[in-house]
Amino acid sequence: MENCLFCKIAEKKIPSTIVYEDEELLAFKDIHPHAPVHLLVIPKTHIGTLSDCSAGHAPLLGKMLALAPRLADEHGVAVAYDEDGAPQRGYKTVINSGPDGGQEIYHLHLHVIGGPHPWRHER
Ligand code: AMP
Ligand code: ZN
Repeated sequence: MENCLFCKIAEKKIPSTIVYEDEELLAFKDIHPHAPVHLLVIPKTHIGTLSDCSAGHAPLLGKMLALAPRLADEHGVAVAYDEDGAPQRGYKTVINSGPDGGQEIYHLHLHVIGGPHPWRHER
């Protein structure tokens, strides 16, 4: 898609700090992080928004979501349980959709946001 920032990032025409890549997906660091860990997972193919997806996109969407815990683990924010079984650490997975959903870039992306508190710049 011409003039799509994230298509250009996927094509490596614009630099980004890539943390994961396969045939279908790219994950990179958000340029304006809202927390110590702020990653974006995108499909390499252009999809404008979650509302452009239907049941046929379920495998791709599932892959995007399933990547989040792996990235969280690699960046030290995966949920772990202490000796009493209480959950520790953690992260948010967010997809903003449309203007009322706070979407600024119209290429589907999943935010993975986490890190040690205090941080309160939640979207
Ligand atoms: P959203 O509001 O859900 O559309 O989020 C768009 C995100 O893209 C924001 O968190 C921006 O900081 C991020 N962003 C914009 N330009 C870039 C870029 N060149 N590289 C990495 N992240 C970017
Ligand atoms: Zn695009």
